[in-house]
Amino acid sequence: MKTSSVARPIDTYHGRQLFRRHLLRWYDCHKRDLSWRLNRDPYRVWLSEIMLQQTRVTAVLEHYERFLKRFPTVKTLSAARLSSVLAVWSGLGYYRRARMMHLAAKTVVNEFNGKFPETAEQLRKLPGIGRYTAAAVASIAFNEPVAVVDGNVRRVLQRMLGRNLIEAESWAIADSILSGRRPGDFNQAIMELGATVCLPRAPKCLTCPLLGLCKTRGEGANELKPSLQQKRQIGYTLDQRDGGVFLVQRAPDIQLMPGMWELPEISGSNVEPDACMRIRHSITVTDYTVFVAQGPPPAGIEGRWVLPSRIPKLPLTGLTRKILREAKII
Ligand code: SF4
Repeated sequence: MKTSSVARPIDTYHGRQLFRRHLLRWYDCHKRDLSWRLNRDPYRVWLSEIMLQQTRVTAVLEHYERFLKRFPTVKTLSAARLSSVLAVWSGLGYYRRARMMHLAAKTVVNEFNGKFPETAEQLRKLPGIGRYTAAAVASIAFNEPVAVVDGNVRRVLQRMLGRNLIEAESWAIADSILSGRRPGDFNQAIMELGATVCLPRAPKCLTCPLLGLCKTRGEGANELKPSLQQKRQIGYTLDQRDGGVFLVQRAPDIQLMPGMWELPEISGSNVEPDACMRIRHSITVTDYTVFVAQGPPPAGIEGRWVLPSRIPKLPLTGLTRKILREAKII
């Protein structure tokens, strides 16, 4: 990374003070109006942090209110059936998160009397809560002075300092610059800066509140690794009879989306000539071209006829939900 000299870099006491002041002032004026910032209820904060893991804000916005409407408290979530939780989660992907949330909600109700633990250390004892999530919930909901590091924070820090940081260094530096007075706002502010200003490919340095403290000022931002995205074709059959749709359930012991419901899968190249629908779908590092053909599934496939009114109650894979919406079945 190329660097420029700055008057007060953040590895000085005064530099860190300025960093906090500029960042929080900017956050107070420019923070996005997001549903989970309405209040500091730990359940709402926790839900948003889990949903935002590896998922875009726009996708989370669609699901967040729906989930809260169905499960407004940790108690209602803990009492729900897992299949209902997965059904509401459907479309967000990474279903392990929903399973872990369900388990964690039961732990909060059964072992903590329905009240969320208030420190990062205790929160880490809950299923599905790692160092980042524990710190985010503890700082935002309970004002505990613990720093967070995610991809956005790390990028901001690396650019500010003009050098690559290993994981442990990132956490130590994030701790050293954290605002003790407003830790939750500070953590949200630095993540917000990474998500909206200090962007991976084209940082908007001219509007950045930290420009005067930054050693790189966007230099080297284009030195990006080539995309590892792969391309694949996949096919499904869509069979409708007496108003019902034929769906199959994924095996309960597979790693990816166990127990979820989907359309019967067939080879993408076989179905392409007969496809009535062609859509694009991305999952982690793979871009799928999805072909859907109308007609019966291959012989021998076991499944169930499901009426459209029942479909929203099933835990569907996100792709199946997308296809059924496109076909105007749900
Ligand atoms: S947006 Fe530019 S000035 Fe601000 S932290 Fe990122 S690289 Fe530095």
